[in-house]
Amino acid sequence: CGIVGYIGDGNVYDVLIKGLHRLEYRGYDSAGIALVNPSGSLNVYKAMGKVSNLENYCKDKNLEAKAGIAHTRWATHGEPSDCNAHPHYSEDGNLALVHNGTIENYKLLKDALTQHGCKFHSETDTEVLVQLIEYIKIKNNCSLLDAVREALKQVVGAYAIAVVEKDHPNRIIAARKSSPLVIGIGEDEMFLASDATPFVEYTKECVYLKDEEVAIIERGEPLKLVTLENKEAKIDVTTLELS
Ligand code: GLU
Repeated sequence: CGIVGYIGDGNVYDVLIKGLHRLEYRGYDSAGIALVNPSGSLNVYKAMGKVSNLENYCKDKNLEAKAGIAHTRWATHGEPSDCNAHPHYSEDGNLALVHNGTIENYKLLKDALTQHGCKFHSETDTEVLVQLIEYIKIKNNCSLLDAVREALKQVVGAYAIAVVEKDHPNRIIAARKSSPLVIGIGEDEMFLASDATPFVEYTKECVYLKDEEVAIIERGEPLKLVTLENKEAKIDVTTLELS
C-alpha cells in the first residue's frame, strides 16, 4: 500500500501512475487516483487489481490536472473492490482523500456522522476521515486545513493522508501519524509519497513528516508544516544520497 501526490507543471497523471508503479513492491489489491482539473472539477478513477488495470480504465478519461493524489490499497476494513478503493470523496464531491493505515475508532465516528445525516458509500475506515473533514468544514465554516486538524484530533489510529479540494486546484493537504509520509521539494513542483522512490528522479530534497504534523503543499509557495494545534513546525530538509 502506498500514497503519491503531485503538484506542479509536469504531467500530473504520468507522475502519479509512475509513482504508483514504484510503490508496487509494498503490495496492494486495488489502486486509484484523484485529479483536480483546472476548470474546477475533481475526477476520481479507481480499479481493482494492478496499477495497469487503473491505467487501462483511465485510457478514455479526462486526465487534465493541476494537482493530484493516488493510492494503492491493502484492504484492512472492507473487501478489495472498486468501491472500497481509494480515493474516497465527501458527500458534496468537494474533497477527495487517500489514506494508508487504520482508523481504530472509525465505528464510533461513523455512527456519530450517520446520526448527523452523513451517508456512507464504502465499508472502509477511511471514508470516515473524508466525511468527518467535510462535516467539520461545513459546520465550522472553516478552511480545509483547520477541518483536517480538527478531524485528526478526533481520530485514534495510524494514518498517512493526502486531501485535495475541488475549488483549490493549487493545494494539497497531507498529514501523518505512525504511517510514513515524505514530501519531495522540486523546483516549482512538490511531491508526496510513502517513501522517496516515486520522486527521486525529479528531486533529492525531501522532508520526512513527523507524527501529527500537517503539511500545506501549495503551488508557488514554500512548504509549510503545522502541528494539530496549528503551531508552525520546523522543516528539516534531507538530501537523498544515491546509492
Ligand atoms: N484501512 C484502509 C482501508 O482498508 C487503508 C488501507 C491501506 O493502508 O491501504 O481501506
